[in-house]
Amino acid sequence: MAHIKLKPSKEHIIKFNPNELDKIKYPPESLEYAKSYVESNRLAEHDEMDIMLLFPDRILFGFDYLDDKVKRVVVELNPVTIFFSNAVMCSGQLKYYKDLLLSQAPDVKAIGKGGEPVNLSHAGMYFQLAINCIINLQAALESFANRVIPDDYKFVGSDGKELASTVTLKLYNSIPAIKGRKFRPSKYRRYNSQIDNLIKLRNHIIHLKPNGLTNTGYKGVYRDLLNFDYYKAIESVRVFINFYEENLIEECPCGNDFSFIVGQDK
Ligand SMILES: [Zn+2]
Repeated sequence: MAHIKLKPSKEHIIKFNPNELDKIKYPPESLEYAKSYVESNRLAEHDEMDIMLLFPDRILFGFDYLDDKVKRVVVELNPVTIFFSNAVMCSGQLKYYKDLLLSQAPDVKAIGKGGEPVNLSHAGMYFQLAINCIINLQAALESFANRVIPDDYKFVGSDGKELASTVTLKLYNSIPAIKGRKFRPSKYRRYNSQIDNLIKLRNHIIHLKPNGLTNTGYKGVYRDLLNFDYYKAIESVRVFINFYEENLIEECPCGNDFSFIVGQDK
């Protein structure tokens, strides 16, 4: 899969030529403020200002950052695209590391008959990427929901009682109510069930406690992490997000595939 385009947090398409702005006569107090801003260490929001970056066809938002003594401007990215891109980049080498882990994991019949010992780093390489992929996919969904749902939104059930704001409630109740469309018709059923599996697995990873004296409660989750279909989950999250915000998740047309590589001990 080609890498994901990272998008700005907010953009406005403009219908004028920014060069025209050079012809405007700015009020003296604006020029004075601009001079004092540039020469001081003060960040813009200290003066309740925002930073907008003007491009030939659009305006993007950014922020200023004091890098030692130099005030620099950085563009603000949409975190949904960062999380989603992280998940895609974690998935790139998953098949390779899964094959490595399983091909080197001892056959129970061979145990005690010499051969390679169990390799902790093979397990580490696969499970780090697998867990990163799941956590980031869920984060993409949850941060998308939080961008859509206003701060003062009340989560209430059909009986009018206030509900805890779970990610499932946000995705399947609040977003459809706010956007006026439901991601529930039958053609999306398989995506819904992949998203449900993703959320369940993510919750198992985070909430799991080691239990029992002689063994742990982790084995089911680790087996699930080996069986999980990461590529279908990525596709489902992409379809869900783009259903509510067209083309937010896009592959880059350059077609390059970037993957996180974890260090490899033998
Ligand atoms: Zn590219």
